[in-house]
Formats: sequence, C-alpha cells, structure tokens
Amino acid sequence: MDVADAEERIRPIIGDIRTEGASAVLRWSEKLDGIRPPFLRVPTEVLAEQADGLDPAVRAALLESIARARRVHADQRRTDTTTVVVPGGTVTERWIPVERVGLYVPGGRAVYPSSVIMNVVPAQEAGVGSLAVVSPPQRDYGGWPHPTILAACHLLGVEEVYAVGGAQAVAMLAFGVDLPEGGRCEPVDLVTGPGNIYVTAAKRALQGVIGIDSEAGPTEVMVLADGTADPVHVASDLISQAEHDVLAAAVLVTDDPNLADRVDAEVARLLAETKHVERITEALSGTQSAIVLVEDLEQGLAVADAYAAEHLEIQTRDAREWALRVRNAGAVFVGPYAPVSLGDYCAGSNHVLPTAGSARHSSGLSVQTFLRGVHIVEYDEKALRDVAPHVLALSDAEDLPAHGAAIQARLDDGASGEKA
Ligand SMILES: [Zn+2]
Repeated sequence: MDVADAEERIRPIIGDIRTEGASAVLRWSEKLDGIRPPFLRVPTEVLAEQADGLDPAVRAALLESIARARRVHADQRRTDTTTVVVPGGTVTERWIPVERVGLYVPGGRAVYPSSVIMNVVPAQEAGVGSLAVVSPPQRDYGGWPHPTILAACHLLGVEEVYAVGGAQAVAMLAFGVDLPEGGRCEPVDLVTGPGNIYVTAAKRALQGVIGIDSEAGPTEVMVLADGTADPVHVASDLISQAEHDVLAAAVLVTDDPNLADRVDAEVARLLAETKHVERITEALSGTQSAIVLVEDLEQGLAVADAYAAEHLEIQTRDAREWALRVRNAGAVFVGPYAPVSLGDYCAGSNHVLPTAGSARHSSGLSVQTFLRGVHIVEYDEKALRDVAPHVLALSDAEDLPAHGAAIQARLDDGASGEKA
C-alpha cells in the first residue's frame, strides 16, 4: 500500500471528525487502536507521575539532551532586520512564531523520546503560542500513551498531551474538538513529527487546513573515509543506523581498498554480537547499502554531494576541511569523535533531517520551521512620490492600470494641497 491508497482509507475518518468532533475521535481510536483512553487529554498529574517513575539514568540523559538542544536552538533565533531602502522607505523583516503547533509522536514498538525533544525544543525556542502533543493510546498502559513519551513531555514543560494517534489525531489537531471531559483542543496551524503511513496520508490530506513538515523516508548514513579512519568506528556507525529500519541505508565511500576490506570484516564481526541482527543484516544487504570505492577523496566528495545523505560522516585526514566543502547533506559529523548516534541523542543538533536526496533543497527541523518572516513595509509621501513613475510604468506594462491609479490617487492628494 502506498500513501495514495492510505489516503483513500483515512478519508472517512477525517470526514467523521470534521462533522462529529471528539465522539468520532474516540470511536475511531477504539476501532483502530483497540482502546478508549480514560480521557482524551492526559491529566498533568499523569505526566508528572511518569516523569517521577523514570529510571534515574534515563531521566538525567533526557535532561542533558534537552539542555544541549536548547543551547543550540536558542542561538537559531533570528532578530528582525530593517533595511532602509531609500530615505523614508524601509522594509523590516519580522520573524513571527507560528501561533499553535501540534506534534505527532508515534506509539507502538518504536518509542522515541528523543524525537519528542527534537520537535518540541525548536518550537519552544521559536516562541510558538501553544503546543499540543498527540500520541496513540496504549492498551498496555491503561489507555494512556507510552510512559516514556509522557515523561519526556513533562521534562520539556509540555502540559497539553492527548491520547490519540493515527489519522484521527491529525484530524483532531486540524479541526479542533470539544473534549468530552470538558475543555477544548483548539485547532493548530502546523503539525510536525513522524508517523506511519496513515499519519502521513492524513497530513497530506489536510495540508492547506494545516501546514505540515516534510515527509521523512528511511534513515541514511554515508561515511566518507580514507586510510586514516578506524575500521571499527566506521563499521559500528554503519551498523548503528542500519539498526533503525530494514530499509535504512548505510553507505561507505572510500578511496582505500584496504579500509573497505577491513570495514567489511569488522561489520561481520560486530554483527555477531549485536542485538537487532536480523533487521541490521537486512538493511546492510539491501540494494540501498553499499561500500563504494572511489579514485580519491575529491571523487568521494562528488559522490557524497550527489547522494545528499541525511547523515554524512567525514572520517578522513583534515576532516574539517572536507566537511566544510560539502554542499548536500542533512547534517555532517566530523572526525572520529562525532558519530551519528551522538547526533541522534545528545550533540545539541537536531536529528529530524531531510532524507531521500531532499537535502539538496531542504534543511532539517529548526527554530526556523516554526517562524514566519513577515515584511513590514513603511514609505512616507516623498519616498512614494520618488518611486511612483517606476510603479506606474510597471503597472502599465502588466496592464493593471488600477494598480497605477492607487499610486496616482496619493500623488493627486498631495497636489491638491494639505489635508486636514
Ligand atoms: Zn540513529
């Protein structure tokens, strides 16, 4: 099934929620997730309890991940700039946060509190007005979303969390619903976060009602390495990204046949002792994964730019210099001590990155995702009068004479003398 097929299947869900609201949300949840949560909105006490119940090491790690991500994303905040185009004529670019954001967090087997952090922190640092998290109700947890997700929300200061997943969650965020327990989930302006094919289909179907983030494909790592790279580092990084998904791509590009052989051998050795061996073996033996031999690093760089990896590691002599020459990549990890799994959790960088070659035209999630640049245009009479002949010439050229007339009306005003 592809997203277009899924879109057909979720249309009735969207229609029901648009017309019936929360009762349809709960009915579809019961049908698809097999459970009706105690309340749609998770009480804040439940969020706090789950944070209290966290393993202390996981709690400390989440807090460190949040703190580092905040440090980086706080620096991404843009300041407004005013350009004096001519005396009396200015354009100010104002960066205004999106008013209300919804974040989808998957449930089921793939429980990633790190994804909650990577979506929530940039939204918060952008200064969005409000933020709601949705995550599927879990039968194993009394109908609430996964405890680790709830705990991460609490640590991030997110208080508005709903026990709803799938297309019904996206529809609820898009239209807003009155809650059966009282209160209301207001409609959001933008929905971000990963989800299964039905979530993706719902986001596509509702685009226009809401803004959406780009669709994430299977994860990718490319390692550009020369003879100075440690084959154990390279092999373990290829394996670590292959661990995400049988469709994950792990590609080594090297100019050193000897390194290629040694990495191959290390992969085989490390596979024997890793947990998710079947998934990783399938990912590494798929056509999306490979070891690519190149003539030299120049050619390797060309391969990396053509591929535009979600994650690109540079494990070479003068790694930083090569890294700064990269044109196309979601994120670049430089040298032996910046592996991609550091970036997944605790580098401070964002791990929501463009896949499938879209790094050629797109960036990862950032504060910018949650801001809109708005031009504030200010001209005084003299500045308008000075440029008027040009506006009139262009409105004539485009055969839009009323445009010219709107300018002329102001010039005539001035000519007819002072107004009270
Ligand atoms: Zn990873």
